[in-house]
Amino acid sequence: MEYIKFNCTWEEKLISEEIDLEEINNWTAYLKRELLLGVDPEGVGYGNVSLRQTDKTFLITGSQTAKYPDLERKDYAIVEKYDFIANAVHCHGLTKASAESLSHAIVYQAEKSINAVVHVHSNHLWEKFIDKLPTTEEVPYGTPEMAFAIQKVIKEENMKSGLIIMAGHQDGVLAFGASLKEAVLKILAVI
Ligand SMILES: [Zn+2]
Repeated sequence: MEYIKFNCTWEEKLISEEIDLEEINNWTAYLKRELLLGVDPEGVGYGNVSLRQTDKTFLITGSQTAKYPDLERKDYAIVEKYDFIANAVHCHGLTKASAESLSHAIVYQAEKSINAVVHVHSNHLWEKFIDKLPTTEEVPYGTPEMAFAIQKVIKEENMKSGLIIMAGHQDGVLAFGASLKEAVLKILAVI
C-alpha cells in the first residue's frame, strides 16, 4: 500500500512569548531523564509532548528536539491547522512540527476534555501491554491510517485519559489527559 507523505507548511517565526512553557519544559526534561523521550542509537530523536492551546491549535515539541536536555522557546511549534486525509499540518515556530503531530491532533479532536498528549517510546511498555491496554490496529505511524486508528480506540473505549499502545509503531505509546501531569502519571502508573 502507498502512503501519503507527511507535508508541513511551516512559517519560521518564534512562538508567542505569552505562552508559559514552564510546565511543559519540566515534564519534557523529566521524560528525557527516564529515556521515554530521547535519541535512538542511530541519532534520531523520538517522542514528543503537546499541550492544547485552543479548540483547534496546540503547542508541540519540535521535530528532532528530543536530543536537547532542556528546551527553549525556539524548540516548540504551534500547530495551527491540520488535515488528516492530506497528512498535512500548518505550523509556526523556529522548529517544525513532526509527522507525529497528527497523532496528537486526532486525540484533541476526538475528545474535547483532553488538553495534553505525550508520545513516548518504550520497548518495555509496548511489549508488555500490546493488546492488553487499548491498542490501535497495526498501521504505520506518521500516516492518516494511524491517526484514524487512534481515534477509533478513543471513541470505542470512551477515553478521556489513559494510554494507547500504537501497534505498527514499534515501542510507540501515547498517553493523554486533562493536564500534562495526568498524562505523564498514566505512564508512570504502569512502568
Ligand atoms: Zn514515535
